[in-house]
Amino acid sequence: MSRFVGHGRTEVTPVDELTPVDDHLAAILAMLGTPEPIELRLADALGLVLADDVASTVSVPSFPNSGMDGYAVRSADVELATGDAPVTLEIVGEVLAGSADLPGMAAGQCVRIMTGAPVPADADAVVPVETTSGGDGSTRVHRAVRRGQNVRQSGEDLQPGQALVAAGRRLAPADLALLAAAGVTRVSCIPPPRVVILVSGDELVPAQHEPGPGQIRDVNGPMLAAMVRAAGGVPFSVGIVRDDRKALMYAFDTNLGHADLFICSGGASAGTHDLLPEVIGRLGEVTSVKVAMKPGMPQIRGRIANTPVIGLPGNPVSSFVSFEAFVRPAIRHLQGRRDVQRPTVTARAAETLTSPTAKRGYLRVTLSRDDQGWTATPTGHQGSHVISSIASADGLAVVPEDVTQIVAGHEVRVHLLVE
Ligand code: AMP
Ligand code: MG
Repeated sequence: MSRFVGHGRTEVTPVDELTPVDDHLAAILAMLGTPEPIELRLADALGLVLADDVASTVSVPSFPNSGMDGYAVRSADVELATGDAPVTLEIVGEVLAGSADLPGMAAGQCVRIMTGAPVPADADAVVPVETTSGGDGSTRVHRAVRRGQNVRQSGEDLQPGQALVAAGRRLAPADLALLAAAGVTRVSCIPPPRVVILVSGDELVPAQHEPGPGQIRDVNGPMLAAMVRAAGGVPFSVGIVRDDRKALMYAFDTNLGHADLFICSGGASAGTHDLLPEVIGRLGEVTSVKVAMKPGMPQIRGRIANTPVIGLPGNPVSSFVSFEAFVRPAIRHLQGRRDVQRPTVTARAAETLTSPTAKRGYLRVTLSRDDQGWTATPTGHQGSHVISSIASADGLAVVPEDVTQIVAGHEVRVHLLVE
């Protein structure tokens, strides 16, 4: 009961006890290590950050090939060809894409050729079939072609030694295409961080259970696991842990081994059963802070045996907003990403937004767009226990610390929740 102290003051938390949002985030990012790269098959590397520069060892295309369906010719043979005075060439063979057998060609001869097929050594251009008469033994060419025309030259796309993808880049589908073209089938990249999730609270039951008197369903467990996955991490749920020192210690001890990051929900604030700061402190080091934000004031950061730990408040909306503010950037940092923040848009407030003095307010809003730009409309009751307010939100409207009111029609920055 010793922590359950009244201070007899007129405000719950005096302004000088608050830690700025940016300071708590910076302290969290500073405690994260650099992840070790692993080698993965290309197909498994999508969305991951490449650890090393990759250069091509080959030329692409690796042989001159046709850019059209038509006839491989010697350009000199057809340089005078016009619609009125076509040039007739003898057809001496055919090359399909994938052919290895290339016919020889003398002056006045041509070879039928398909897109992607190797161009015979004696030819230097391709006449598209559309500008010929077609035919079997011979064909009339109705238009001249320049030397090299409609031929994709060897090395035109990639040359040996050419940079393909730089270290630090997050691999997109087109990067995988480029690497595959160059025959690179394994890459070294930063693996998705493994994030262990512990939810604490004597009142919690798993969502599939019928809550007894005074009990509620665990919302943060499923929510945080989904948020970890959506952020690109691999969630591992410890499940619900009672507000009990031994149970909490055991949960940390048995799960630290598979965590790149440990996140906890609940038990972080001033209640008699808020044991997390004490337990984390006994096992490692811990800092409990009151962050200048609403919702989400009580926050924990710490470290147990080199594993960073982030403790979030139990109210689901506070937990959600805190995840966005601190955990998502941490997960992205562990992925080797530099863009740890969500994109934002500027929107007009559809109604007046209010936020407490000296705190950063995060209001859940829907966004709509018209000719004037974006409009942000609050999603209803903004209480930190109102789960319906996050489910419909497209973004978090951020009211800065030194602003207590954004009047309807004025601009507000909105942190996007949609990709
Ligand atoms: P706490 O941070 O443990 O003091 O919890 C603050 C509020 O959030 C209380 O009303 C808890 O019942 C509620 N709460 C804590 N954890 C969860 C959870 N996992 N799911 C839903 N509500 C929770
Ligand atoms: Mg609790």
